[in-house]
Amino acid sequence: MMRLRRHAHGMRTLFFRTPCRALLAAVLCLAACAAEPAIAPSPADWTQPANLGQGALRALAYHDSGAYLHDLAEVDAEAADWLAVRAPHVSRPALVLDIDETSLSNWAEIKANGFGHFNDGTCDALPRGPCGFDAWARLERAPALPPTLALYRRARQLGIAVFFVTGRHADMTNATAANLRQVGYRDWNGLLLEPQGSHFASAADFKAPTRAAIEKQGYTILASVGDQRSDLDGGHAERGFLLPNPFYFIP
Ligand SMILES: [Mg+2]
Repeated sequence: MMRLRRHAHGMRTLFFRTPCRALLAAVLCLAACAAEPAIAPSPADWTQPANLGQGALRALAYHDSGAYLHDLAEVDAEAADWLAVRAPHVSRPALVLDIDETSLSNWAEIKANGFGHFNDGTCDALPRGPCGFDAWARLERAPALPPTLALYRRARQLGIAVFFVTGRHADMTNATAANLRQVGYRDWNGLLLEPQGSHFASAADFKAPTRAAIEKQGYTILASVGDQRSDLDGGHAERGFLLPNPFYFIP
């Protein structure tokens, strides 16, 4: 018979009262082991579809390591160089800036939502979340992205007009303007938001015609700067500058 023996120090071991019983137990164990298939090692070429959780961890590390701001600064610096080269040669030079993840950072909202996006809901649970984007924007607490604020200041030094063109809707105009001013974007030539209730299949369907309308006022748009391809598609700028954003996608 198989019994458990408790040692003085609390460890337990198996022991058998007779050799015959030990042999019987071994046979029974072998039979049981044979009934269960062995777990084969995973083949090295096993693959999975892209994993959302791993992507979130990579995005978090990209932000927190400083690589995000570093990469953003490189693009903004390139844009600033372009402005300095071109501004003396054109009539009414202009810079178009996107707002979210270009001029302002919504990192607190993004992180609280675990990279999800919700328009509705309050932000009472910050910093742990969740936090609806509309409520977040109305808090006017989004900090500037310093490299883009530096680009903005350089543009103003060069006498370049600045237009903010954003996918935010018109009912956010006052909160957006207040937030921009609080963090250092003191003045601009235009703050252009999507009409209230409008919906575009792509942000470019609003932003490209808006840049065209700016050009019709006599401006030469030297650069359009944004964090989504849809900020830049559709032309009506001499150059587009795409900032890094692995956190969300806007068609
Ligand atoms: Mg954006």
